Amino acid sequence: MTASGRPATHSVLNQVPLLTDYDVADDPALLAALHREGGGWAEAELHELGVLAGAASTQEHARLANVNKPVLRTHDARGYRIDEVDFHPSWHVLMNTAVSHGLHAAPWADARPGAHVARAAKFMVWTQAEAGHGCPVSMTYACVPALRNAPDLAARFEPLLTSASYDFGLRAPDGKTGLLAGMAMTEKQGGSDVRANTTRAVPAGDGSYLLTGHKWFCSAPMCDLFLVLAQAPEGLSCFLLPRVLPDGSRNAMYIQRLKDKLGNTSNASSEVEYDQAVAWPVGELGRGVATIINMVSATRLDCVLGSAAAIRQACVVAANYAAHRRSFGARLLDHPAMATVIADLTLEAEAASTLAVRLAGAADRAARGDAAEAALLRLALPAAKYWVCKRTPVIIAEALECLGGNGYVEDSGMPRLLRDAPLNSIWEGSGNVTALDVLRALSRSPDSADALLADIDLAADEPRVAAAAGGLRIALKDAATASPDAQWHARRLAGQIAITLQAALLARHAPDAIFDAFCASRLEPAATAGPGGPGTPFGSLPDGADLAAIVARSAVVTGR
Ligand SMILES: Cc1cc2nc3c(=O)[nH]c(=O)nc-3n(C[C@H](O)[C@H](O)[C@H](O)COP(=O)(O)OP(=O)(O)OC[C@H]3O[C@@H](n4cnc5c(N)ncnc54)[C@H](O)[C@@H]3O)c2cc1C
Repeated sequence: MTASGRPATHSVLNQVPLLTDYDVADDPALLAALHREGGGWAEAELHELGVLAGAASTQEHARLANVNKPVLRTHDARGYRIDEVDFHPSWHVLMNTAVSHGLHAAPWADARPGAHVARAAKFMVWTQAEAGHGCPVSMTYACVPALRNAPDLAARFEPLLTSASYDFGLRAPDGKTGLLAGMAMTEKQGGSDVRANTTRAVPAGDGSYLLTGHKWFCSAPMCDLFLVLAQAPEGLSCFLLPRVLPDGSRNAMYIQRLKDKLGNTSNASSEVEYDQAVAWPVGELGRGVATIINMVSATRLDCVLGSAAAIRQACVVAANYAAHRRSFGARLLDHPAMATVIADLTLEAEAASTLAVRLAGAADRAARGDAAEAALLRLALPAAKYWVCKRTPVIIAEALECLGGNGYVEDSGMPRLLRDAPLNSIWEGSGNVTALDVLRALSRSPDSADALLADIDLAADEPRVAAAAGGLRIALKDAATASPDAQWHARRLAGQIAITLQAALLARHAPDAIFDAFCASRLEPAATAGPGGPGTPFGSLPDGADLAAIVARSAVVTGR
């Protein structure tokens, strides 16, 4: 035995220091974008949250919240229905931090220009602590613009939805200090085609409606309020359904079971039934999709933010590992094949973050009445949602492999990241549906193509962007004819929009090394030695890329 009492069979060598106690906000692309898009005033708070997100204690809360899954208790000891979901205390710690830092609906009550950008950056930083609890946080953020279609309900509940108080528990919403909101659209027969919803809404005679039916996916069922779609006599309509009625009694919303999911395990996702549940109409009856689309759009932004953040996190973990681990006498990072992989992943992280915060800036300005930014968002948001979210699982899988076998083991945090990765691409419009929304935006809002191209053209003095913009211009024109054939190319067009916009943004805002390598590998695949382009496995960058400068963007300082 050694003096420490450990068996003296071997010395532990070449294991990488834990990536802990670092500032997650120590991210040059994110910080620059924060300032550019008008949220620079939040930088101090962003770093505060970043240090908290990278703290060992937070990492432990994240682990505990995931290994201790939420538990549904349908009945009490005497057989009365209670429909409670129990969460591990660490879930509440994470939620409390998120809400007290205004990651939920706070920017809707903040008149400062850039409030949505500041919140987006904070969300990107804090979601790297743990992604699952972002679900109710995002839905609460997204619910407000839809709820404003019912001014009385908005006046009553918005102050509580935007409050910085995390007040968990099933009590009447009006008596709480803070509220969380969810959404329930998806039914058993299909989630993409919500017009096929079968849940019925019958007028109760006092302005409220009684909902009877089911929802196949209802995440975060312990929220206080839900936006729900149901068939009223006028057609599919949007309603606000409280979990607890104003008199303190439970509404007739019954949780059937919790989903046993691939990932997102800290968060509860449920199947629910309504048996004459009380709900209040939101927006014009019969125009439920038009009303709830405001919420869908805001959650889609969070899908892009969350996925960009996950890509960044995976990159940082991989870069940190490769900077310490040695093989064949050198650091992994000093082996050309590994340096190319880390650099390639870093390009994705930079492009995803830059695009994500640009869209948050557009959302901020659109919320303040900027029509051109609203038009840009209508086209660029579904394209970005499609592209960034779809790239995320493959990027994380590649980053995981940079850790070799250790990456496959839960202790590294990478398996959780990988399991969580596909979700943003599925919900709020799975890949195909989101790509088809790009076509819909083009046909319904022709100004959206002009707004997009105008933004891309700001970088037109860069020949590679100008060439890509030329190609995109033709593709957009072809797609705008609304021919049924356009659907065959929907995914290709969505990807083309996202990559061209990313290239234009990087041309204006990223270091030359990033922009050059991005163009060479994403816009000019023919220039690479072998099969190039975004379909290629990572690590196939063309010769001449400044790998050291690129990889440096993924380095962080630990031990804070
Ligand atoms: C963890 C989790 C949490 C969720 N939480 C919620 C929630 O809180 N509230 C809620 O309402 N929903 C929630 N959902 C449901 C989610 O939004 C739906 O799963 C999603 O919208 C897809 O609907 P669906 O599963 O019925 O698939 P379907 O609609 O059956 O689609 C299946 C596949 O077909 C594709 N497809 C559909 N139509 C077309 C078409 N016209 N052309 C080409 N391809 C098409 C889709 O892209 C998809 O890949 C959640 C899902 C998950 C996984």
